[in-house]
Amino acid sequence: MKTITVREGKERSLQRRHPWVFEGSIASGKADLGETVRVQTHDGRFLAWAACSPHSQIRVRAWSFDETERIDSAFFLRRIEQAIAIRARLPIASDGVRLVHGEADGLPGLIVDRYGDTLSAQFLSAGAERWKATIADHLLKATGLTRLYERSDATSRELEGLPPATGWLRGDGPTEVTIREHGWQLSLDVAEGHKTGYYLDQRDSRKLFADTVRHFGLQRVLNCYSYTGGFSVAAFAGGAAQVASVDSSGPALERARAHVLRNGFDDAAHETLDADVNQTLRAMLQEGRRFDAIVLDPPKFAPTVSHAERAARAYKDINRLALMLLEPGGVLFTFSCSGGISPDLFHKIVAGAGLDAQVDGLVYARTGAAPDHPMTITFPEGDYLKGLVIIKRQAPR
Ligand code: SAH
Repeated sequence: MKTITVREGKERSLQRRHPWVFEGSIASGKADLGETVRVQTHDGRFLAWAACSPHSQIRVRAWSFDETERIDSAFFLRRIEQAIAIRARLPIASDGVRLVHGEADGLPGLIVDRYGDTLSAQFLSAGAERWKATIADHLLKATGLTRLYERSDATSRELEGLPPATGWLRGDGPTEVTIREHGWQLSLDVAEGHKTGYYLDQRDSRKLFADTVRHFGLQRVLNCYSYTGGFSVAAFAGGAAQVASVDSSGPALERARAHVLRNGFDDAAHETLDADVNQTLRAMLQEGRRFDAIVLDPPKFAPTVSHAERAARAYKDINRLALMLLEPGGVLFTFSCSGGISPDLFHKIVAGAGLDAQVDGLVYARTGAAPDHPMTITFPEGDYLKGLVIIKRQAPR
């Protein structure tokens, strides 16, 4: 077993059970891609068993903080079974469920989503990659399913020195799957969809949106960054009269249209715009269009803190435009899934947008990722998705 020694004073984060050690905190030691190493203090005391990522700034990711635990096949089965057992106790109104959420489930770099009878997984770290075959077998064993599709095509693989990898890892057949979320039928393609196929993390916010549309009697809805129209279906389910879905992906919009029909809503009341959101918001303002509810669920503008400043301007801009497009009394659902933007900073950005738009807002609710995307108390980086639900009122002059 190879050993990696951290610099004196840099052992604190592992001692606090934060699972990462950065390159700059390492005094000595080397290992191969994904190899299990013993991480120790400068004077040789055990800190963690970890996987080595020789090409990444995040040089090691801890598997276990227990010196007596062995990192072997049985270890991965235990962790996977644990993760699945917790999901079984959570209130999840869908058969689309995140079964393994990386660091939060003690399996750094591993993402596994279940869509009905199909598993879709991302192996994003050198350690997860190294144990891929073992993990794949255990996932089938623990779920009783037979199909596992790999979607290891996220750009973060490059930082690990890993090439993209996609395709059936276990089983085969059609890649199109239908799930039922809050009773809505939603289809996705594990091979073609974004990430593993769908954005399960917004499940609870889509329900809150449907409920809010109903409760406030909101009629005209604008769903920005709609992807396959999850929030659009939610809007119709809540009783909206008209919904516009905007996304820059044609195939996503096609699916959004199909979802509206499939769930029994009026296709003619659904407008789809294959366009850039920022430009669309500006054009709509000029045309004098107004909405009673707007969703802003953009992609990650700031993957890390170093992107935060530019991302903040981009967030502020779309939030300002959306607040201007809303009728007084209308409701904005605004989100950021950027790990590099803290909840506090996001709130400040939206506040700035409100000032510029000369509107005031009541924060009606705050949202986060659905509970099958858990965050642990030792890994604050897990708090990536935050949402604010705001009721617009004109700022007092
Ligand atoms: N709200 C969706 C998830 C949104 S993911 C849901 O509930 O499922 C972000 C979406 O933004 C993706 O579908 C992507 O195609 C789209 N997108 C990215 N940049 C865009 C841009 N500049 N204009 C419009 N859409 C964009």
